Amino acid sequence: VIKVRDLHKTFDRHEVLKGIDLTARVGEVTALIGGSGSGKSTTLRCLNLLEIPTRTRTFKLLGEDVAFRSSIRKGVEVVDKRQLRRLRSRLAMVFQSFNLWPHLTLEKNVMEAQVQVLGRAKDEARETARRLLDRVGLSDRRDMYPSYLSGGQQQRGAIARALAVDPEVMLFDEPTSALDPELVGEVLSVMKELAEEGRTMIIVTHEMKFAAEVADKVMFLNAGRVEEEGTSDQVFNAPRSERLKQFIQTIN
Ligand code: ATP
Ligand code: MG
Repeated sequence: VIKVRDLHKTFDRHEVLKGIDLTARVGEVTALIGGSGSGKSTTLRCLNLLEIPTRTRTFKLLGEDVAFRSSIRKGVEVVDKRQLRRLRSRLAMVFQSFNLWPHLTLEKNVMEAQVQVLGRAKDEARETARRLLDRVGLSDRRDMYPSYLSGGQQQRGAIARALAVDPEVMLFDEPTSALDPELVGEVLSVMKELAEEGRTMIIVTHEMKFAAEVADKVMFLNAGRVEEEGTSDQVFNAPRSERLKQFIQTIN
């Protein structure tokens, strides 16, 4: 569902991505790992078209070729704006924190995009919201506002909200790194379930045990390049590059 070749992203003349190749197939879980500033979040944001690549050879998303054009006035942009909206609505992203809208109850949070983006009727949206909140273990919290929920509950709510639009690909950017250690497990176990049911996911994470267990493919980024990639077994148990060996040592 995703095929990106030679993806470059530059911020203020600082080249942050220096030619990333990434392929994700339906049902595959890809983990992006790497040190701070290596370009993991930027890669994810480019896949979601929240950031527009400075240049790229191939950019295929959900079966569509995305074309970019560049002008001095506007910089690089997606040529087809309708395509941009369409693709964004078929992807879902869960961030480190600040996922839920603070002024809406949990249930309303999960309903909102269904009504606004998919044009679902309210009753149907509510039913879906309740089913999804039940799934992530939050049935009894649906009328609460996010600030009254624990971090782990908020993140599970954010995952329910992401699921509500039936996304074809789910992108996660360190969904557990803002959580107290005792709350990490409940979020990871929801994500693990999603992986097991065959969801296509790309996950930036520092949870190496989780990545090793859940990911079909692990990509190690270093200074804007894919330094090494392989199955989780290859990457964690038989790393080839010195940088990856070092990285694995420092986080263990
Ligand atoms: P971390 O593990 O700390 O989240 P990361 O691998 O996600 O790191 P990125 O957030 O992708 O790293 O950032 C890569 C580099 O790009 C960093 O040097 C960062 O300062 C820079 N960068 C990211 N976003 C912007 C921006 N909007 N403007 C300018 N520089 C940016
Ligand atoms: Mg990041």
